[in-house]
Amino acid sequence: MQRSPRRAARPQQILTGVPAAPGIVIGPAYVYTAGALSVEPHPIPASRVEEEVQRFLAAVDQTKDQIRQIRRQVEDQIDLAHGAIFESHLRVLEDPLLIDHTVDEIRRDRLNAEFVFHRNLQKIGTLLAKIRDQHFRERDADLFDVGKGVAHNLMGQVRQHFANLQRDVVVVAHELSPTDTAQMGQSSILGFVCATGGPTSHTAIMAKALELPAVLGIGDECDTIAAGDLVVVDGNEGRVIVNPSAENLALYRRARMRVVRSRRDMAKLRDLPAETTDGYRITVAANIELPQEVDQVIANGAQGVGLFRTEFLFLNATVAPDEETQTRVYSDVARRLRPRPVIFRTIDLGGDKFLSAPSVGEELNPFLGLRAIRLCLDQRDVFMTQLRAILRASARGAVHVMLPLISSIEEVREARAMFDQARTDLLSEGVPIAEQVPFGIMIETPSAALTADALAREVDFFSIGTNDLIQYTLAVDRVNEKVAHLYQPLHPAVLRLMRVSVEAAHREGIWCGVCGEMAADPDMTPILLGMGVDELSMSAPAIPRVKQAIRRLSLAECQQIYEDIAAKVTVRETRGAVKRQTRRLARESQPRVRP
Ligand code: PEP
Ligand code: MG
Repeated sequence: MQRSPRRAARPQQILTGVPAAPGIVIGPAYVYTAGALSVEPHPIPASRVEEEVQRFLAAVDQTKDQIRQIRRQVEDQIDLAHGAIFESHLRVLEDPLLIDHTVDEIRRDRLNAEFVFHRNLQKIGTLLAKIRDQHFRERDADLFDVGKGVAHNLMGQVRQHFANLQRDVVVVAHELSPTDTAQMGQSSILGFVCATGGPTSHTAIMAKALELPAVLGIGDECDTIAAGDLVVVDGNEGRVIVNPSAENLALYRRARMRVVRSRRDMAKLRDLPAETTDGYRITVAANIELPQEVDQVIANGAQGVGLFRTEFLFLNATVAPDEETQTRVYSDVARRLRPRPVIFRTIDLGGDKFLSAPSVGEELNPFLGLRAIRLCLDQRDVFMTQLRAILRASARGAVHVMLPLISSIEEVREARAMFDQARTDLLSEGVPIAEQVPFGIMIETPSAALTADALAREVDFFSIGTNDLIQYTLAVDRVNEKVAHLYQPLHPAVLRLMRVSVEAAHREGIWCGVCGEMAADPDMTPILLGMGVDELSMSAPAIPRVKQAIRRLSLAECQQIYEDIAAKVTVRETRGAVKRQTRRLARESQPRVRP
């Protein structure tokens, strides 16, 4: 820990740089000096050259292990995507041109490994500097980050860390590498400023991910900041005020309060329950297709993921992703959402989601063909791999599994047997998995809805996939624009099938959600609530409006609206009734919360 030296008040200094990560923080400067290493050449006697080569290769391996450790730490703290930043670091050390070249030159020039390696990195750096693209120029910093790691290991030095800081500080450095920044997440650092670095540097990316306000690229003036100077970091404007005047300090303190307050208000709105005016609560969850959407899920106040369409991993692949790859992705999603639950839907390939792997070949009627659960029961090794990966992810969060396109009880039983087998195998292999992994199905076919009573005795939950339920009930291809006018969510047949599914679920003591597009339409909210649905799952951006609709309604009026609509026999009548209700509710609505 640095001491703030006692000194006469220093004059205010305003520095400008690149606004790399937003926010305003105020704190004493901690000057980070683990900068460039001086790497001098010295000759190696011929008899010790091979020893020098081995010393170099051992340092490269040691650095790779350290990078992998940092990557895991970033994956745990942030996510897989930010962990992947360190992939490029590893690639540098796996580049045969660089490594083999260095080995050859150590032998040829009989010079120390530190110097030869550094010289080669500088050559690559000079080439990168000639490329005008900022992205490439900024990769130069990654290169030297790696170089520094190897040099430290060769010299037996330990890199300076932030872990032992004992009070909130602003880090001031000439240069910060992604490796340095990655260590900041676990310490008491408020934000940082740096002489070098641009807006797309990995250091900037890490700062945003860690939500640390940062200003980069200030230039050499940055080096004039002394330990203990009071520093304001304005990451919104890219401004750094060193030893601010009393007026500026007051101004920035007020601005900081505003930032904190507005964040609090947003959070308040986001965290309001999905509760009707008469106190009935329903679960509002999100549908996602990519792991990157998790942040959006949380930001929009979803109580979990009601549908994770796992197909994305398969759609662009030529071979099905292996168990390790799937486990990594599912575990990452489960961990980031924890304690919120996530429902992994097993692959729903076929239909309109064509695939590279596994292949089903041409079909005349793909929507009625080897799709979803049918494909999985046909290609059991692919299905088993996915079930094992989902179960393995259950050790990292509240994982559920859900089968798509069920049309018979036999399918559920077959899939359940495989699921139980996967669980038994993993336990006997000593792989940690959760004790409970709820097992549910989608209600997407009329046959599933009409046998919902029997199905409900086999599973832990239902989720109605209205997108498919509508197409299979009305025999209307969901992607064919020529029959789009016949695709009617409010068709009485659809509403009745939904209702019997909800009732059957409740009779057997399980819950029933809706995860098709109908759940995302606030005009449908009163009908779904009135029908007794327990969970609405939709794309994350749709959540605030649906939540607002729920908070404006009473369960009693929803039940009334539903009964009114359920009594109609034509689409024209049901649609008319919904339109009237929507207009009435819009007139009467009094939002309970104004953001
Ligand atoms: C549905 O059919 O309503 C559903 C949610 O699944 P998908 O849209 O992925 O077929
Ligand atoms: Mg579907």
